[in-house]
Amino acid sequence: MNAEIVSVGTELLMGQITNTDAQFLSRELSELGVNVYAHSVVGDNAGRLRTALDIALARADIVITTGGLGPTMDDITKETIAEHWGLPMAPDQPTLDRIESYFRSRGRQMSPNNLKQALFPEGAVILPNPHGTAPGCILEKDGKTIIVLPGPPREMKPMFMESVRPYLMERSGYVLTSVVLKATGIGESDAEYRIRDIVEEQTNPTIAPYAAPGDLTLRITARTARGEDPKALLMPVAAAIRERLGDYIYSESGQSLPEAVVEMLAARGRTLSAAESCTGGMLCSMIVDVPGASRVFTEGFVTYSNEAKTARLGVPADILARHGAVSEETAGAMARGLRQRSGTDYAAAITGIAGPTGGCADKPVGLIYIAVDSERGLTVEKATLRTQRDYNRTMACQIALRMVREALVRDQDAEA
Ligand code: ATP
Repeated sequence: MNAEIVSVGTELLMGQITNTDAQFLSRELSELGVNVYAHSVVGDNAGRLRTALDIALARADIVITTGGLGPTMDDITKETIAEHWGLPMAPDQPTLDRIESYFRSRGRQMSPNNLKQALFPEGAVILPNPHGTAPGCILEKDGKTIIVLPGPPREMKPMFMESVRPYLMERSGYVLTSVVLKATGIGESDAEYRIRDIVEEQTNPTIAPYAAPGDLTLRITARTARGEDPKALLMPVAAAIRERLGDYIYSESGQSLPEAVVEMLAARGRTLSAAESCTGGMLCSMIVDVPGASRVFTEGFVTYSNEAKTARLGVPADILARHGAVSEETAGAMARGLRQRSGTDYAAAITGIAGPTGGCADKPVGLIYIAVDSERGLTVEKATLRTQRDYNRTMACQIALRMVREALVRDQDAEA
């Protein structure tokens, strides 16, 4: 089975947006064992879309379009496909009802334009869009299939995962089963280098890496016939990766780092508090995002000024005067002071220069110290990150969580 992706949108041609939809679809299709031989991009123009469809349908079993499903005049994808295949457009009543209730629930008036989104080429299988008003659809004719998806990634991706992926799996007769390994403390390129040969050797299972600041996801996906046991394919590959990435792996069930840390603390009956400067509460927020965090997380402080570090955490004024707010000594004193005052088993502290301004020669933007204190001692790490504020703040929190996790593992080993 092979597929071709036709992305519709003048914005794509003008370079105003990147075609991340095509990238996502290609990745997912390759995992499904569907070969993708070409991508094309056309503007919101019926004539050129017809030409692109002609070419794609001549050489692919499945054509997936993205974009051009909106309510405005220049959204022409469905209409052009209907015309191309000689199918009349007909309203889909459940879709009409859904669009009406979508507007009603938001207290907004539905414009007649929105009716357009409930019209589909006759015979289309409608794909619901829980994240927007434009449903997608699947059309089959003469052994060819066109799958029509919306443009916005936050609508397109769930539609693909919830409706298209099962449809393609059903058609292919395969079953996909994944194991998700999560790693932290190792850069994406370093991790890829360590497992490159395993990734390159594999066609089934496939290994798909996704990197976020301080967090690497490796999804290992096996394609099996119905009734066949996927474990036989998945387990040896997971074991080979585990051997290469060792302690960097913090979860094998797809958990996020905050989830893994909260679970570990809860399992051991330990508590945590946090003091933050440049991350301004982000670490606390990441922790309390995890349901059940109250079992382990007691309190957090945003101590932005030197005075706050002294008043709230007891950081000695002379440490601040001698070493500055962004220093190993201050980070350590923040964590130690916090643990004494909060009485928690672990206390994490972050102080640094998030940027993009505020650095100097000996303390550049991206310099961040992260400390974790526990009964068994204090650990402080120095991170030299980037110039982007968001990246630096997220990364600092990930490092703090990793350090709490390492302290938990170390303390458990010491107790054993
Ligand atoms: P809507 O119903 O919101 O109008 P649509 O299906 O008509 O959606 P478009 O109008 O083509 O989609 O695009 C809407 C937005 O979706 C774009 O402004 C862009 O932000 C995003 N988008 C569209 N196509 C892509 C793409 N191929 N890759 C990434 N983002 C895209």
